Amino acid sequence: MGFIKGLKCRECGREYEINPVYVCEFCFGPLEVIYDYEGIRGVLTREKIESRPRNIWRYRELLPVEGEPDNALDTGFTPLVRADNLARAIGVKELYIKDDTVAHPTLSFKDRVVAVALARAEEFGFDTVACASTGNLAHSVSAHGAKAGFKRFIFIPASLEKSKIIASLVYEPNLIAVNGNYDDVNRLCSEIANKYNWAFVNINIRPFYAEGSKTQGFEIIEQLGWRAPDVVVVPCASGSLMTKIWKSFKEMKEVGLIEEVHTRVYAAQATGCSPIVTAIKQGIDVIRPVKPNTIAKSLAIGNPADGYYATKVVSESGGYGEDVSDEEIVEAIKLLARTEGIFAETAGGVTLGSAIKLIRAGHIKEDDTIVLCITGNGLKTQEALSGHTPEPHHIEPNLDSFEKVLRQIEGGSG
Ligand SMILES: *Cc1c(COP(=O)(O)O)cnc(C)c1O
Repeated sequence: MGFIKGLKCRECGREYEINPVYVCEFCFGPLEVIYDYEGIRGVLTREKIESRPRNIWRYRELLPVEGEPDNALDTGFTPLVRADNLARAIGVKELYIKDDTVAHPTLSFKDRVVAVALARAEEFGFDTVACASTGNLAHSVSAHGAKAGFKRFIFIPASLEKSKIIASLVYEPNLIAVNGNYDDVNRLCSEIANKYNWAFVNINIRPFYAEGSKTQGFEIIEQLGWRAPDVVVVPCASGSLMTKIWKSFKEMKEVGLIEEVHTRVYAAQATGCSPIVTAIKQGIDVIRPVKPNTIAKSLAIGNPADGYYATKVVSESGGYGEDVSDEEIVEAIKLLARTEGIFAETAGGVTLGSAIKLIRAGHIKEDDTIVLCITGNGLKTQEALSGHTPEPHHIEPNLDSFEKVLRQIEGGSG
């Protein structure tokens, strides 16, 4: 396709050719994919994008692959839902849910990054893919890797939700459950990645993998009618998604697809694992690692690789950050389900719960155009709700028994 220029160190700016490398040899800064924006500006129009199939490859000029993979799961173009019921409940006017709980093969935004990573891994000639995962990535690499015919090594913390473990195992990858938290798993995987010639999606091919997150931002802009929102609230684990949503907005402007970006970007984390939000609230860019303790396991990264860059996005865009307790996460999951019929996983509770607090504190205004990134499906983290939902009404299989219950229901609050 010819629009990828190479890799560039985010710290010292040194440039590298396209290879499965991820840190600068000179300063150890992370590498990032760079593009020929001038060239893209000349060929990529709104009409061209709109004429293509509704998946992530409709933005292929801005993705780090040579071409579209031909044996891949269909990924992307999830709904942007206008959430008027929820808007009324939380006191704002124009609210949208970017709903990554549906339409993806494994029902989380991780399918975006994995689809791009595996397409690139194939182009590099790898036969084995691997990852260190907080849950959704395990599920996604297991599935996409099965379809594309890769050998797969999936590393997870042993304490992961059972439903995510089964959801991964059904695709028969080599699933390695490590006695330790995500940060332990990640450290081990860095060692393994140095020794074995595998495509570790979030380690040695991370620069390519991470670019996949931009598709969520591209879709938001297209689905809003080619404009950027005033506010976007993003859940943070490593902080990568947030930095890439910001990058996607700026790129759309850079290549002339939109005129203006005035978006404020807000970070959302669980109080039990909030190293990024803590730094934002303190007004510093130094991330102090923490030991995660929260039901939001998909976000439980205590030492976030892109934390520093996430704080930069907040200061550059004029956003902020907020964190929520486990109780607030559960309440927010229930509110979203009750008002909009969307069942989000714990990360979705983190996003909505944090947004509510940011609105109450006046950071987000009543008449802002607001997009909440809801990144994963609640069916995968049902444990989080056990004991927090109403009980079913138990009856005998006869009309009398049903009508007795019906009278109770109607006599009660309804
Ligand atoms: C991984 C993940 C995120 C955010 O991940 P980053 O590491 O910050 O890019 C958000 N939501 C869900 C559901 C996830 O699985």
